[in-house]
Amino acid sequence: MDCPRCGVRMDFQAETEIMSDKLKKIRYLYKCPACGVKTSDLELRLTRDGGVTISVYSF
Ligand SMILES: [Zn+2]
Repeated sequence: MDCPRCGVRMDFQAETEIMSDKLKKIRYLYKCPACGVKTSDLELRLTRDGGVTISVYSF
């Protein structure tokens, strides 16, 4: 995937965000190494409540 702003090939990466003891977000996205533009691709939300529930959001 190429950057929409400058056309450089973007890096695929995952970011983890811990919201609380029970909720963790993992976001998979493309980031341009040249200009820093990010495009959100997919977000997983892990909810721990007895077991673990995984919700998937795509953009
Ligand atoms: Zn760029």
